[in-house]
Amino acid sequence: MKMPTELKQGYERFRLERFRIEADRYKAVAEGQRPRTMIVGCADSRVDPATIFSAAPGELYVVRNVAALIPPCERGGGYHGTSAALEFAVKELKVSNIVVMGHDLCGGIAASLMVAEKRPVGDFIAPWIDQISGIRDELLERGDVVDPSLRQQALERMAIQHSLDNALTFPFIQSAVESGRLTLHGAWFSIGVGELHWLDWDTGVFEHVGD
Ligand SMILES: [Zn+2]
Repeated sequence: MKMPTELKQGYERFRLERFRIEADRYKAVAEGQRPRTMIVGCADSRVDPATIFSAAPGELYVVRNVAALIPPCERGGGYHGTSAALEFAVKELKVSNIVVMGHDLCGGIAASLMVAEKRPVGDFIAPWIDQISGIRDELLERGDVVDPSLRQQALERMAIQHSLDNALTFPFIQSAVESGRLTLHGAWFSIGVGELHWLDWDTGVFEHVGD
């Protein structure tokens, strides 16, 4: 199958521009990766962690899925891609930070709200996002956020905190956090304005980073 033109052109630019500038770094990281931070991000095409954090190759260990969720620790069957990435990052790479980065206008979070309205969502998306149905129902029952877009933003941020709670259900994460080797963080990115908000653990508020 012929390579799609935009991918070919992008790759050619990578070879001519970025790779040429960073050839030494690529050579160095080929010896082994030692990223200090793992990002759990959304698959959404607009929220690439390497772009948002201006990261060079080897700096960020990234796993992306629908809605940037960390599932609870489950040992049963199933293909636990995100859990496997967490295990590798913490036990082998010994990262110092895990950042769960959600974002506004998230289709995965919107799908969770659609399920609540009995609207259909995908066969694979439905069971995946079912893990946040408890906090979604909590938000809807509370009923204090009426505006649909603000309600979605509230659920986006609650899902980040829920993922951080789930992270602690993995024994290797809990012990690394308890011993001070690992810190968990929450972040939420607003696409249209390119702004990041960082979770303050003490207040539970996502604070705008910068000015
Ligand atoms: Zn998303």
